[in-house]
Amino acid sequence: MKDYKPMLARLAESPFSSSDWIFEVKWDGIRAISYVNEELSIRSRKQKELIGNFPELSELKDLTGNIVLDGEIIIMKDGRADFQSLIQRMQNTNPREIMYLAGKFPATYIIFDILEKDGKEVSDIPLTERKRLLKNSVKEGNFVVLSLFVEETGEAYYGAALEKGLEGIIAKKKQSPYEPGKRSNNWLKIKPVKTCDCVIFGYTDGEGNREKTFGSLILGLYDKAGPVFIGKVGTGFSREYMENLKLSLDKHKVEEETLPGVDNDREITWLRPDIVCKIGYQSITEDEKLRIPVFKSLREDKEPLECTIDQIRPVVSDYTEKRDFSRTPEPQMSHERGTGKSFVVQEHHARRLHYDLRLEKDGVLKSWAVPKGPPETSGDRRLAVQVEDHPLEYGKFEGAIPQGQYGAGTVKIWDKGFYETIYWKEDKIEFIVKGEKMEGRYVLVKFKKAGEKNWLLFKGSD
Ligand code: MN
Repeated sequence: MKDYKPMLARLAESPFSSSDWIFEVKWDGIRAISYVNEELSIRSRKQKELIGNFPELSELKDLTGNIVLDGEIIIMKDGRADFQSLIQRMQNTNPREIMYLAGKFPATYIIFDILEKDGKEVSDIPLTERKRLLKNSVKEGNFVVLSLFVEETGEAYYGAALEKGLEGIIAKKKQSPYEPGKRSNNWLKIKPVKTCDCVIFGYTDGEGNREKTFGSLILGLYDKAGPVFIGKVGTGFSREYMENLKLSLDKHKVEEETLPGVDNDREITWLRPDIVCKIGYQSITEDEKLRIPVFKSLREDKEPLECTIDQIRPVVSDYTEKRDFSRTPEPQMSHERGTGKSFVVQEHHARRLHYDLRLEKDGVLKSWAVPKGPPETSGDRRLAVQVEDHPLEYGKFEGAIPQGQYGAGTVKIWDKGFYETIYWKEDKIEFIVKGEKMEGRYVLVKFKKAGEKNWLLFKGSD
């Protein structure tokens, strides 16, 4: 049997639903490929043999044969995958302790893919067919299970997974082959990518099975002028956890409102802002709220007043570091609120004339210097060198940057308007522009051969 390296997933920007994809739970464990014939070998990504540390998984030999499988080893504790216990078991070298721990904290091997069957590679056949083959080839046991999956409804599945306290989900394209060792766009992990520490200002009344606890927590962060409402969180805790949390929250109850600007479609119990918690989230909405927030934990080591709104505001530190604002007329970041969709091209007579294309995204202007200017006809391609994110205020800037300052020379707005994103990934951006001069579909593609910051800007056919 040949050695396989596991296929890896890229990080998705946010959850989505699509009939071309299936969705599975993302487990927090050890990735392991198993080779089952006369011998059984289960190996980690670093090719470490795992069967010695997880003897209970040798039952796999009785459940299937002549096969190569991909999966994840986890240890469940209190309804959650416990990574800490897993690491302890993996590092143990004492045979007696290993046997004892195998009984006390048994592992589960969750199998999600099949790579080889009866000496034949099956990595090239589409995922849906591999899933069918897997189901027909492996019986489940006490410590070996097959991964469940749903089709199409990724967003709902993601919400349900977070509600259960799981880390996230993996989306897999139905028609895709298994690509050993590759980090592929056909597998996407979807999880809250950012975290911030927030203050709990209250909670909304619960309904249904939450009648005795609460609906969601009301979260705020401190701005210079005072606390600002940044959203509510209602997922990420078990019922038992919620019951305990409510008991501690209720010790801080007050009569009067402690946070302005909260939409009160439900009855709110206000709290003194004494308690800090860590929240995971996907991104920040245009009105500066957390998108798809999930509760992570309480943070007893942090003071409420340390929870400032800077945590969720975009930063343009490279931009700020390069400029001396006592000398250049260029704007400083003032956290102006954008439309989310503006674009601008500035004609910049620096040492060399170039055109700066800027697209508003996540509260900043993503920027590229295009030496020859945007392409005019479809098929035309222009080098576009990515430069530091600029503050939104820069979109209105025209003027002369003095000698000795970064980018010295005059800046004029060459075109401006709005754009719509079709696709925005790490190495490819596709968008439709509506400006005076630029109009229609454009594509930016990373051009790594020419350097890490280099892209090509195309005009697409409409
Ligand atoms: Mn420039």
